[in-house]
Amino acid sequence: SESLTVGELAKKIYREPSEIIKKLFLLGVMATINQVLDKDAIELIASEYGVEVEEEIKIDTTDLEVYFTEDSEESLIERPSVVTIMGHVDHGKTTLLDSIRNTKVTEGEAGGITQHIGAYQVVENGKKITFLDTPGHAAFTTMRARGAKITDITILVVAADDGVMPQTVEAINHAKAAEVPIIVAVNKMDKEAANADRVMQELTEHGLVSEAWGGETIFVPLSAKTGEGIDTLLEMILLVGEVEEYKANPNRKAVGTVIEAQLDKGRGSVATLLVQNGTLKIGDPIVVGHTFGRVRAMVNDKGRRVKEAGPSTPVEITGLNDVPQAGDRFVVFEDEKTARQVGEARAQTALVAHRGEKSIVSLETLFDQL
Ligand code: GDP
Ligand code: MG
Repeated sequence: SESLTVGELAKKIYREPSEIIKKLFLLGVMATINQVLDKDAIELIASEYGVEVEEEIKIDTTDLEVYFTEDSEESLIERPSVVTIMGHVDHGKTTLLDSIRNTKVTEGEAGGITQHIGAYQVVENGKKITFLDTPGHAAFTTMRARGAKITDITILVVAADDGVMPQTVEAINHAKAAEVPIIVAVNKMDKEAANADRVMQELTEHGLVSEAWGGETIFVPLSAKTGEGIDTLLEMILLVGEVEEYKANPNRKAVGTVIEAQLDKGRGSVATLLVQNGTLKIGDPIVVGHTFGRVRAMVNDKGRRVKEAGPSTPVEITGLNDVPQAGDRFVVFEDEKTARQVGEARAQTALVAHRGEKSIVSLETLFDQL
């Protein structure tokens, strides 16, 4: 995006913003310091000062997406799968998330007090799996709207005594649109009225055909209440992870997405980040959405202080100058100065957009007004 505000242009050509505003006024345009100018308008103003605008395509360094670069194949290693649980209301999503956490997290983690940070990790057969503890639908809709993909695998929970319901179908559509593999958890198998065959039958109509019936979808009958079948579900997640080969490069600066964030009375801005690539470290200069700072403290999902967090790890951080939003991207920078510059530019853009002043002056509108 080749655009600058009047203020930014003024800075670049070493002029006062008021001078640019006056020039625009003479061209018939009423502008403020925050007015966004497009490439043609910039060239016109610049030429008035005998300044040539470089033709090279500039990378917009304030766009955090540009830092989500791909790594060379040899730098990649296996990372834990990131899993979201979706399904119709009351089919057992929360119970399943709690059940997985309670049965798995306590094993081998002496005195591990689980704290709610919006995501957690469990270990199955020596391998980690990351669960997003946020409502699956929200995670999909807000994050997909920003083009941010954070989920690798969706667990579709369907109550065996209730079958496919409207939000079940909605969940399938979200997962399909995001091209995320689905594992079906046929829940509440402990109930008298449970009928797994009916669930399988109904899901066939939505393109999810069980392996037992010649299809490709994994179905796991389980009970989130009794814990029966949960180990099988975790094994199936590992299986899908092995097939899909989720990888990342731990030896680079971290990038990822905000899971949740809020203002804490004592600690200030607190954000749970999911590291998607690289390793996040204490002291890292960071831009998170429209906020920035230095990673002051990091706490993992067990409530323990950690010094670093690798790919697919959820971690709660403090040290930001403001509260970011769920779904915001984060990027670690080389030095604090760059992080501050990018962060402030992003905050400024957000402010301008918020005030509704982001009207674009193009050459056409300039001429229209002449
Ligand atoms: P959510 O709306 O999908 O998060 O559903 P919840 O986890 O809140 O569960 C809804 C209700 O179903 C609660 O009363 C749970 O105790 C119950 N429930 C969830 N899983 C099971 C299960 O496997 N068996 C039985 N019998 N009840 C369950
Ligand atoms: Mg729930």
